[in-house]
Amino acid sequence: MAVTTTDRIMGELSQIAVPGLDGDLVSLNLVSEITEDNGKVVFSITVPDAFRGNFDPLRDEAQKRVEALDGIESALVVLTAEVDAPAPVEQPPQLQTSRPVGPDMRPAAGGIPGVGAIVAVASGKGGVGKSTTAANLALALSSLGLRVGLLDADIYGPSMPRLMGIDGRPDIVDEKINPMEGHGIKVMSMGFLMEEDNPVIWRGPMIMSALMQMVREVNWGTLDVLVLDMPPGTGDAQLTMAQQVPLAGAVIVSTPQDLALIDARKGLKMFENVDVPILGIIENMSTFICPHCGETSDIFGHGGARDEAIKLGVPFLGAIPLHMDIREHSDNGNPTVVADPDSPHAKIYKSIALNIATQLRGEKDEEDE
Ligand code: ADP
Repeated sequence: MAVTTTDRIMGELSQIAVPGLDGDLVSLNLVSEITEDNGKVVFSITVPDAFRGNFDPLRDEAQKRVEALDGIESALVVLTAEVDAPAPVEQPPQLQTSRPVGPDMRPAAGGIPGVGAIVAVASGKGGVGKSTTAANLALALSSLGLRVGLLDADIYGPSMPRLMGIDGRPDIVDEKINPMEGHGIKVMSMGFLMEEDNPVIWRGPMIMSALMQMVREVNWGTLDVLVLDMPPGTGDAQLTMAQQVPLAGAVIVSTPQDLALIDARKGLKMFENVDVPILGIIENMSTFICPHCGETSDIFGHGGARDEAIKLGVPFLGAIPLHMDIREHSDNGNPTVVADPDSPHAKIYKSIALNIATQLRGEKDEEDE
């Protein structure tokens, strides 16, 4: 029987013993399905729960061995850890200034070459519409004529492939990942590298290694703005991202409810503590507009985020209503800004984008002086 590329790769990976455990990457069943396309290989390695320490050297060895095989041009090896638990447990925020454990993956000073500004879109908790807002803002920035990238760092539940209507896997060229494209912007998401419906939990250092791979090892080309869709919450992973990715600023998305606002405050504090400028708060799912009669109702008590922003002295960027169209457009992979560019909702996203672009320009002018 002919030996397939996958067999040869598995043969190499079976040579890599896992320290402290009785077996190698293959016998311990840690290697995911391997995808190979024209000599470009992508697979993930599950870090076993029992493993203590830094798995990065094993990942590097796996990559080196696979790339040394005949006919293999490049390999992208991603570290994950699977769990049966329904959701990762949020850690209380630990505001620290020291570097977290793990290898130093801080980007080179001055940010990512070719990328003008990285803007984080964050929320204190999940389900407030952060990803929907990030996608629409990225497209609204693009409609202003800016060159825009969108990086889905929401690795707990990557939603950009669905939101942006992008299928398939990215190409790897010269050891760099080519971002996918949707609606005229470059998009990268762990969702392009993972199987759908496969719950994955990430531990701190792994998250950073995957994220830094997506920041640094992706051919972003020249971008004016890279929009970073953060994982929801203010735990260690988010804090590490806020510290290690060279952010030009952060936008906080909140619903008007009090609870979300308390969470939003934690988000603000997290960025402030690591000296990332707050570009402002967006109130999402603000008023409810009935799709049938057009009547407006403030079911969650509209205006909470505006009041809070004023109290906290940060800009209030705008209120996006709760509207069926916004959800339907996202579900169809056509965010509102492109699906219905002249709608009142798209106009709100565009005015927020303009505000953000203006603030970024102001920061840049200050730097240049
Ligand atoms: P998060 O990223 O905060 O978890 P999502 O962007 O995934 O939240 O949004 C959660 C759900 O709410 C999605 O089904 C999305 O389509 C919907 N949604 C988000 N914003 C709005 C809005 N303004 N109006 C209606 N539905 C919305």
